[in-house]
Amino acid sequence: MKTTVAVYDTKPYDRESFARVAGADAIDWRFLEFRLGPGTAHAALGAQAVCVFVNDEAGREVLEELAGLGVRLLALRCTGFNKVDLPAARELGLPVTRVPNYSPYSVAEHTVALILALNRKLHRAFGRVREHNFSLAGLEGFDLHGKTAGVIGTGRIGRLVAELLKGFGMRVLGYDACPAPEWAARHGIVYTDPRTLVRESDVVTLHLPLTPETRHLVRRDTLDLMKPGAMLVNVSRGQLIDTLALIRALKSRRLGGVALDVYEEEEGIFFEDLSGQVLEDDVLTRLLTFPNVLITAHQAFLTREALHDIASTTVENVKRRTAGEPFLEGTSL
Ligand code: NAD
Repeated sequence: MKTTVAVYDTKPYDRESFARVAGADAIDWRFLEFRLGPGTAHAALGAQAVCVFVNDEAGREVLEELAGLGVRLLALRCTGFNKVDLPAARELGLPVTRVPNYSPYSVAEHTVALILALNRKLHRAFGRVREHNFSLAGLEGFDLHGKTAGVIGTGRIGRLVAELLKGFGMRVLGYDACPAPEWAARHGIVYTDPRTLVRESDVVTLHLPLTPETRHLVRRDTLDLMKPGAMLVNVSRGQLIDTLALIRALKSRRLGGVALDVYEEEEGIFFEDLSGQVLEDDVLTRLLTFPNVLITAHQAFLTREALHDIASTTVENVKRRTAGEPFLEGTSL
Protein backbone atom coordinates (compact mmCIF):
# COMPACT_ATOMS: atom_id res chain seq x y z
CA MET A 1 0.00 0.00 0.00
CA LYS A 2 1.29 3.49 -0.85
CA THR A 3 2.20 5.90 1.94
CA THR A 4 -0.14 8.90 1.98
CA VAL A 5 1.44 12.31 2.56
CA ALA A 6 -0.77 15.30 3.39
CA VAL A 7 1.02 18.36 1.98
CA TYR A 8 -0.21 21.55 3.64
CA ASP A 9 0.00 25.04 2.13
CA THR A 10 0.60 23.58 -1.34
CA LYS A 11 1.39 25.96 -4.19
CA PRO A 12 1.56 25.03 -7.89
CA TYR A 13 5.36 24.97 -7.80
CA ASP A 14 5.29 22.39 -4.96
CA ARG A 15 3.15 20.00 -7.00
CA GLU A 16 5.39 20.47 -10.03
CA SER A 17 8.63 19.92 -8.13
CA PHE A 18 7.31 16.79 -6.37
CA ALA A 19 6.10 15.44 -9.71
CA ARG A 20 9.60 15.83 -11.20
CA VAL A 21 11.38 13.83 -8.46
CA ALA A 22 12.24 10.19 -9.11
CA GLY A 23 10.28 7.86 -6.82
CA ALA A 24 7.54 10.39 -6.05
CA ASP A 25 4.99 8.23 -7.86
CA ALA A 26 5.39 5.61 -5.12
CA ILE A 27 3.67 8.06 -2.74
CA ASP A 28 0.00 8.99 -2.57
CA TRP A 29 0.11 12.82 -2.40
CA ARG A 30 -2.76 14.69 -0.79
CA PHE A 31 -2.19 18.32 -1.75
CA LEU A 32 -3.97 20.76 0.57
CA GLU A 33 -4.01 24.45 -0.20
CA PHE A 34 -4.55 25.65 3.38
CA ARG A 35 -2.02 25.82 6.20
CA LEU A 36 -1.63 23.39 9.07
CA GLY A 37 -2.99 24.73 12.35
CA PRO A 38 -5.38 23.84 15.18
CA GLY A 39 -8.41 24.01 12.85
CA THR A 40 -6.93 22.03 9.97
CA ALA A 41 -4.95 19.15 11.48
CA HIS A 42 -7.95 16.83 11.00
CA ALA A 43 -7.37 17.01 7.23
CA ALA A 44 -4.42 14.65 7.76
CA LEU A 45 -6.80 11.80 8.63
CA GLY A 46 -5.60 8.66 6.82
CA ALA A 47 -2.15 10.14 6.05
CA GLN A 48 0.97 8.53 7.46
CA ALA A 49 3.09 11.65 6.92
CA VAL A 50 2.47 15.39 6.92
CA CYS A 51 4.57 17.83 4.91
CA VAL A 52 4.58 21.50 5.93
CA PHE A 53 6.23 24.81 5.01
CA VAL A 54 7.43 27.90 6.88
CA ASN A 55 4.12 29.33 8.06
CA ASP A 56 2.35 26.13 9.09
CA GLU A 57 1.68 25.90 12.84
CA ALA A 58 2.84 22.73 14.55
CA GLY A 59 2.39 23.51 18.24
CA ARG A 60 1.70 20.90 20.91
CA GLU A 61 -2.06 20.76 20.32
CA VAL A 62 -1.62 20.25 16.58
CA LEU A 63 1.08 17.62 17.05
CA GLU A 64 -1.08 15.73 19.55
CA GLU A 65 -3.93 15.71 17.03
CA LEU A 66 -1.66 14.52 14.22
CA ALA A 67 -0.19 11.76 16.35
CA GLY A 68 -3.71 10.73 17.37
CA LEU A 69 -4.67 10.46 13.70
CA GLY A 70 -1.81 8.01 13.12
CA VAL A 71 0.65 10.42 11.47
CA ARG A 72 4.16 8.98 11.83
CA LEU A 73 6.30 11.72 10.25
CA LEU A 74 6.27 15.51 10.12
CA ALA A 75 8.45 16.47 7.16
CA LEU A 76 9.29 20.18 6.89
CA ARG A 77 10.04 21.32 3.36
CA CYS A 78 12.14 24.21 4.69
CA THR A 79 15.19 24.89 6.88
CA GLY A 80 13.69 26.93 9.75
CA PHE A 81 11.66 25.00 12.35
CA ASN A 82 10.58 27.79 14.70
CA LYS A 83 6.87 26.89 14.28
CA VAL A 84 7.33 23.32 15.50
CA ASP A 85 7.14 22.40 19.18
CA LEU A 86 10.06 19.97 19.08
CA PRO A 87 9.89 18.89 22.75
CA ALA A 88 6.20 18.02 22.25
CA ALA A 89 7.02 16.07 19.07
CA ARG A 90 9.69 14.12 20.97
CA GLU A 91 7.27 13.33 23.82
CA LEU A 92 4.75 12.08 21.27
CA GLY A 93 7.37 9.97 19.47
CA LEU A 94 6.62 11.85 16.25
CA PRO A 95 9.79 12.20 14.15
CA VAL A 96 10.36 15.62 12.56
CA THR A 97 12.63 16.16 9.57
CA ARG A 98 13.62 19.30 7.71
CA VAL A 99 15.59 20.17 4.59
CA PRO A 100 18.75 21.82 5.92
CA ASN A 101 20.77 21.57 2.77
CA TYR A 102 18.77 22.85 -0.14
CA SER A 103 20.54 25.18 -2.50
CA PRO A 104 21.92 27.92 -0.24
CA TYR A 105 22.78 29.71 -3.50
CA SER A 106 19.06 30.40 -4.00
CA VAL A 107 18.83 32.50 -0.81
CA ALA A 108 22.32 34.03 -1.07
CA GLU A 109 21.77 35.16 -4.66
CA HIS A 110 18.37 36.65 -3.80
CA THR A 111 20.02 38.58 -0.96
CA VAL A 112 22.49 40.11 -3.40
CA ALA A 113 19.67 40.78 -5.89
CA LEU A 114 17.85 42.75 -3.18
CA ILE A 115 20.99 44.72 -2.25
CA LEU A 116 21.68 45.67 -5.86
CA ALA A 117 18.06 46.47 -6.70
CA LEU A 118 17.55 48.59 -3.58
CA ASN A 119 20.84 50.42 -3.92
CA ARG A 120 20.32 51.24 -7.61
CA LYS A 121 16.56 51.82 -7.05
CA LEU A 122 15.58 49.37 -9.77
CA HIS A 123 12.12 48.94 -8.19
CA ARG A 124 11.44 52.62 -8.80
CA ALA A 125 13.19 52.80 -12.17
CA PHE A 126 11.13 49.89 -13.53
CA GLY A 127 7.85 51.59 -12.66
CA ARG A 128 9.00 54.92 -14.08
CA VAL A 129 10.16 53.61 -17.44
CA ARG A 130 6.89 51.69 -17.90
CA GLU A 131 5.12 55.04 -17.46
CA HIS A 132 7.47 56.59 -20.05
CA ASN A 133 9.13 58.62 -17.30
CA PHE A 134 12.80 58.53 -18.26
CA SER A 135 13.98 60.97 -15.59
CA LEU A 136 16.85 59.88 -13.33
CA ALA A 137 16.08 62.26 -10.47
CA GLY A 138 16.24 60.48 -7.12
CA LEU A 139 17.70 57.25 -8.53
CA GLU A 140 21.27 57.78 -7.32
CA GLY A 141 22.92 54.79 -5.63
CA PHE A 142 26.43 54.16 -4.33
CA ASP A 143 29.31 51.93 -5.45
CA LEU A 144 29.42 48.76 -3.37
CA HIS A 145 33.12 48.61 -4.16
CA GLY A 146 35.14 49.91 -1.22
CA LYS A 147 32.15 49.95 1.16
CA THR A 148 31.69 47.72 4.21
CA ALA A 149 29.17 44.88 4.50
CA GLY A 150 28.27 43.25 7.81
CA VAL A 151 27.04 39.66 7.66
CA ILE A 152 25.31 38.53 10.86
CA GLY A 153 25.22 34.72 10.87
CA THR A 154 27.92 33.03 8.83
CA GLY A 155 26.35 29.63 8.31
CA ARG A 156 25.64 28.11 4.90
CA ILE A 157 23.84 31.14 3.47
CA GLY A 158 25.71 33.92 5.28
CA ARG A 159 29.06 32.61 4.08
CA LEU A 160 27.95 32.60 0.46
CA VAL A 161 26.59 36.13 0.82
CA ALA A 162 29.90 37.24 2.36
CA GLU A 163 31.86 35.69 -0.51
CA LEU A 164 29.58 37.25 -3.14
CA LEU A 165 29.89 40.70 -1.53
CA LYS A 166 33.66 40.25 -1.33
CA GLY A 167 33.47 39.77 -5.10
CA PHE A 168 32.19 43.34 -5.43
CA GLY A 169 35.31 44.58 -3.67
CA MET A 170 33.57 45.21 -0.36
CA ARG A 171 35.23 44.95 3.03
CA VAL A 172 33.22 42.23 4.75
CA LEU A 173 32.72 41.95 8.52
CA GLY A 174 31.12 38.89 10.08
CA TYR A 175 29.51 38.00 13.38
CA ASP A 176 28.44 34.53 14.48
CA ALA A 177 28.00 32.73 17.81
CA CYS A 178 30.14 29.92 16.31
CA PRO A 179 32.61 31.66 13.99
CA ALA A 180 34.46 29.84 11.20
CA PRO A 181 37.96 31.39 11.41
CA GLU A 182 39.55 29.25 8.68
CA TRP A 183 36.85 30.11 6.17
CA ALA A 184 37.11 33.81 7.16
CA ALA A 185 40.89 33.86 6.74
CA ARG A 186 40.60 32.14 3.33
CA HIS A 187 38.16 34.77 2.06
CA GLY A 188 39.54 37.85 3.78
CA ILE A 189 36.47 38.24 6.01
CA VAL A 190 36.96 39.76 9.45
CA TYR A 191 34.96 38.62 12.47
CA THR A 192 34.01 41.29 14.95
CA ASP A 193 31.49 41.93 17.72
CA PRO A 194 27.91 42.78 16.69
CA ARG A 195 28.03 46.42 17.79
CA THR A 196 31.20 47.16 15.78
CA LEU A 197 29.69 45.35 12.79
CA VAL A 198 26.50 47.39 12.91
CA ARG A 199 28.35 50.68 13.51
CA GLU A 200 30.81 50.23 10.64
CA SER A 201 28.70 48.62 7.91
CA ASP A 202 27.08 50.31 4.91
CA VAL A 203 25.06 47.13 4.35
CA VAL A 204 23.94 44.90 7.24
CA THR A 205 22.45 41.53 6.28
CA LEU A 206 20.91 38.90 8.61
CA HIS A 207 21.46 35.16 8.10
CA LEU A 208 20.66 33.47 11.38
CA PRO A 209 17.73 31.41 12.61
CA LEU A 210 14.86 32.72 14.70
CA THR A 211 15.30 31.53 18.30
CA PRO A 212 14.30 33.08 21.64
CA GLU A 213 17.78 34.74 21.71
CA THR A 214 17.60 36.16 18.18
CA ARG A 215 14.01 37.51 18.33
CA HIS A 216 14.18 41.29 17.82
CA LEU A 217 17.94 41.08 17.43
CA VAL A 218 17.55 44.31 15.45
CA ARG A 219 15.66 46.78 17.63
CA ARG A 220 15.69 50.47 18.44
CA ASP A 221 19.21 50.63 19.93
CA THR A 222 20.64 48.51 17.09
CA LEU A 223 19.07 50.77 14.47
CA ASP A 224 20.37 53.85 16.30
CA LEU A 225 23.88 52.41 15.99
CA MET A 226 23.68 52.00 12.22
CA LYS A 227 25.57 54.38 9.96
CA PRO A 228 23.36 57.14 8.56
CA GLY A 229 22.32 56.05 5.07
CA ALA A 230 23.12 52.36 5.68
CA MET A 231 21.03 49.54 4.26
CA LEU A 232 19.45 46.71 6.28
CA VAL A 233 18.61 43.39 4.62
CA ASN A 234 16.62 40.51 6.12
CA VAL A 235 15.93 37.32 4.20
CA SER A 236 15.96 35.08 7.29
CA ARG A 237 12.91 35.42 9.56
CA GLY A 238 10.70 38.46 10.11
CA GLN A 239 10.87 38.41 13.89
CA LEU A 240 14.62 39.04 13.85
CA ILE A 241 13.62 42.71 13.44
CA ASP A 242 11.34 44.81 15.64
CA THR A 243 9.25 46.20 12.78
CA LEU A 244 7.85 49.15 14.73
CA ALA A 245 11.38 50.25 15.62
CA LEU A 246 12.29 49.84 11.95
CA ILE A 247 9.44 52.11 10.87
CA ARG A 248 10.58 54.70 13.41
CA ALA A 249 14.13 54.55 12.01
CA LEU A 250 12.81 54.90 8.44
CA LYS A 251 10.67 57.89 9.42
CA SER A 252 13.71 59.54 11.02
CA ARG A 253 15.41 59.19 7.60
CA ARG A 254 18.43 57.65 9.26
CA LEU A 255 18.38 54.47 7.20
CA GLY A 256 19.32 54.52 3.52
CA GLY A 257 17.10 51.57 2.69
CA VAL A 258 15.58 48.32 3.86
CA ALA A 259 15.19 45.12 1.86
CA LEU A 260 13.03 42.35 3.29
CA ASP A 261 12.06 38.91 2.08
CA VAL A 262 10.38 38.13 5.40
CA TYR A 263 8.08 40.03 7.73
CA GLU A 264 7.10 39.53 11.38
CA GLU A 265 3.42 38.98 10.61
CA GLU A 266 3.76 37.41 7.18
CA GLU A 267 1.46 34.44 7.87
CA GLY A 268 -1.69 34.62 5.84
CA ILE A 269 -0.26 37.45 3.70
CA PHE A 270 2.94 36.27 2.03
CA PHE A 271 2.43 33.52 -0.58
CA GLU A 272 -1.17 34.70 -1.17
CA ASP A 273 -2.65 36.81 -3.97
CA LEU A 274 -4.42 39.58 -2.04
CA SER A 275 -4.53 42.03 -4.94
CA GLY A 276 -7.90 43.73 -5.04
CA GLN A 277 -8.45 43.17 -1.33
CA VAL A 278 -8.11 45.58 1.59
CA LEU A 279 -4.79 44.90 3.32
CA GLU A 280 -5.62 44.63 7.01
CA ASP A 281 -2.04 44.82 8.30
CA ASP A 282 -1.34 48.51 9.05
CA VAL A 283 2.34 47.93 9.81
CA LEU A 284 3.05 46.22 6.50
CA THR A 285 0.97 48.86 4.73
CA ARG A 286 3.13 51.58 6.32
CA LEU A 287 6.32 49.77 5.32
CA LEU A 288 5.10 49.61 1.74
CA THR A 289 4.76 53.41 1.61
CA PHE A 290 8.50 54.09 1.95
CA PRO A 291 10.28 54.63 -1.37
CA ASN A 292 13.45 53.10 0.09
CA VAL A 293 11.86 49.84 1.22
CA LEU A 294 11.93 46.84 -1.10
CA ILE A 295 9.88 43.82 -0.08
CA THR A 296 9.62 40.39 -1.67
CA ALA A 297 7.19 37.84 -0.24
CA HIS A 298 9.51 35.10 1.07
CA GLN A 299 10.72 34.09 -2.36
CA ALA A 300 14.47 33.79 -1.72
CA PHE A 301 14.28 29.97 -1.83
CA LEU A 302 12.35 29.91 -5.09
CA THR A 303 14.76 28.49 -7.65
CA ARG A 304 14.34 25.31 -9.67
CA GLU A 305 17.39 23.81 -7.96
CA ALA A 306 16.20 24.56 -4.43
CA LEU A 307 12.71 23.18 -5.14
CA HIS A 308 14.26 20.01 -6.53
CA ASP A 309 16.48 19.57 -3.44
CA ILE A 310 13.47 20.13 -1.15
CA ALA A 311 11.26 17.66 -3.01
CA SER A 312 13.90 14.93 -3.28
CA THR A 313 14.90 15.14 0.41
CA THR A 314 11.24 14.96 1.43
CA VAL A 315 10.49 11.99 -0.84
CA GLU A 316 13.58 10.13 0.38
CA ASN A 317 12.72 10.67 4.06
CA VAL A 318 9.11 9.54 3.56
CA LYS A 319 10.41 6.37 1.86
CA ARG A 320 12.91 5.77 4.65
CA ARG A 321 10.25 6.22 7.34
CA THR A 322 8.01 3.72 5.54
CA ALA A 323 10.90 1.24 5.27
CA GLY A 324 11.96 1.83 8.90
CA GLU A 325 15.38 3.12 7.80
CA PRO A 326 17.34 6.06 9.29
CA PHE A 327 16.59 9.48 7.80
CA LEU A 328 19.01 11.25 5.48
CA GLU A 329 21.96 12.54 7.46
CA GLY A 330 21.41 15.90 9.13
CA THR A 331 17.69 16.11 8.34
CA SER A 332 16.28 14.73 11.61
CA LEU A 333 15.38 17.29 14.27
P1 NAD B 1 22.82 27.83 9.19
O1 NAD B 1 22.33 27.01 10.34
O2 NAD B 1 23.77 27.20 8.24
O3 NAD B 1 23.52 29.17 9.75
C1 NAD B 1 22.99 29.93 10.80
C2 NAD B 1 24.15 30.59 11.52
O4 NAD B 1 23.61 31.43 12.54
C3 NAD B 1 25.10 29.57 12.22
O5 NAD B 1 26.43 29.80 11.82
C4 NAD B 1 24.88 29.85 13.70
O6 NAD B 1 26.07 29.67 14.47
C5 NAD B 1 24.44 31.30 13.68
N1 NAD B 1 23.68 31.65 14.88
C6 NAD B 1 22.64 31.00 15.44
N2 NAD B 1 22.21 31.64 16.53
C7 NAD B 1 23.00 32.73 16.66
C8 NAD B 1 23.04 33.80 17.60
N3 NAD B 1 22.16 33.87 18.62
N4 NAD B 1 23.98 34.75 17.43
C9 NAD B 1 24.86 34.69 16.41
N5 NAD B 1 24.88 33.71 15.50
C10 NAD B 1 23.95 32.74 15.62
O7 NAD B 1 21.51 28.35 8.46
P2 NAD B 1 21.39 28.85 6.95
O8 NAD B 1 21.11 27.68 6.07
O9 NAD B 1 22.51 29.74 6.63
O10 NAD B 1 20.03 29.68 7.04
C11 NAD B 1 19.95 30.88 7.81
C12 NAD B 1 18.50 31.28 7.94
O11 NAD B 1 17.98 31.66 6.67
C13 NAD B 1 17.54 30.13 8.36
O12 NAD B 1 17.53 29.97 9.76
C14 NAD B 1 16.21 30.57 7.84
O13 NAD B 1 15.52 31.28 8.84
C15 NAD B 1 16.58 31.54 6.69
N6 NAD B 1 16.11 31.06 5.37
C16 NAD B 1 15.30 31.86 4.64
C17 NAD B 1 14.86 31.45 3.38
C18 NAD B 1 13.98 32.30 2.50
O14 NAD B 1 13.42 31.80 1.52
N7 NAD B 1 13.83 33.58 2.78
C19 NAD B 1 15.25 30.19 2.90
C20 NAD B 1 16.11 29.41 3.69
C21 NAD B 1 16.54 29.85 4.92
